[in-house]
Amino acid sequence: MSWQGLIHHYREFLPVTDKTPVISLLEGNTPLVFSQDLTDAVGPQVYLKYEGLNPTGSFKDRGMTMAISKALEKGSKIVMCASTGNTSASAAAYSARSRKLKCVVLIPDGNIALGKLAQAMIHQAQVIAIKGNFDQALTLVKDITNQYPVELVNSINPYRIEGQKTAAFEICDTLSDAPEFHAIPVGNAGNITAYWKGYKEYKKVGRSKGLPKMLGFQAAGAAPIVLGHPVEKPETIATAIRIGNPASWKSAEAARDESGGLIDAVTDDEILEAYKRLAAASGVFVEPASAASVAGILKLSRQGYFRNHKKARLVCTVTGHGLKDPNIAIKNITNPVVLEADIKTILKEIGL
Ligand SMILES: *Cc1c(COP(=O)(O)O)cnc(C)c1O
Repeated sequence: MSWQGLIHHYREFLPVTDKTPVISLLEGNTPLVFSQDLTDAVGPQVYLKYEGLNPTGSFKDRGMTMAISKALEKGSKIVMCASTGNTSASAAAYSARSRKLKCVVLIPDGNIALGKLAQAMIHQAQVIAIKGNFDQALTLVKDITNQYPVELVNSINPYRIEGQKTAAFEICDTLSDAPEFHAIPVGNAGNITAYWKGYKEYKKVGRSKGLPKMLGFQAAGAAPIVLGHPVEKPETIATAIRIGNPASWKSAEAARDESGGLIDAVTDDEILEAYKRLAAASGVFVEPASAASVAGILKLSRQGYFRNHKKARLVCTVTGHGLKDPNIAIKNITNPVVLEADIKTILKEIGL
């Protein structure tokens, strides 16, 4: 049967019942794309979990199908989130699809990628930009949802984590086991938490045998977990991980420590290099935050981390689609040449 969304497919692992009204855009079931270029560069067999191919262009849809379905089941009328962009795009789309929920989003003024803002608006969310950063927006949303009958759909909503853990299930199903390593960008740290939960649950029921080392990567200008303290003014071009005080800080550390992995930082230059490399040599276009996982494994490989792991499998989650943030792409290309509409001139330019 054709794919009917992740709640349908992984129902036995999710807190839903026959009474849960499932709101789905057939999210999940994203491709696990082998990269020869990255395999040659780092050693282990590198696979990209291409989450940009979810319905709204990021992994947030996995959590949102759960959070919105559960909010409806509970009888909520309004959902709310703070967002660096993708959560709001996803919350807006799933709320629209429910045809019942009003969606309100708080975003940091001036730091939302163009594509994401367009999505939230076209799906009819009420978008409020605050003169503050993501962490301040999230504090406001927590206060409001604590005091009023409004459902919070950030990743501190446990249903978000439940939905997002299914990406780990899909990887195990495709590879017939867990990989040895899993690399992932870390912002608010919900996703690393979700993957680790997913891997552990699958192993527990015998659907996989191993567990990966979890390798998390923050942007150097927004690396609170690496530094060991909150960052008051986080700065990075990777806006989706521009977070100074992650909500799931503790569980990210638990994923790191229980798995024997690490959480490290990568610079904006390293992120951009990986971003361009993914597009140019793997054919995979992602937004800058997504490239943090790839920048991270390139960095570890330079340090010799993967020595003696040639046979191992390494999955990199690439979290969001490149078209989300077209301005960054445009800044990193040269404009096309303009020539006369004349075949000779064009052939000469091509070198034919
Ligand atoms: C939300 C997001 C992240 C960060 O995920 P967390 O769960 O907040 O750690 C990374 N990349 C993209 C594209 C995102 O949308």
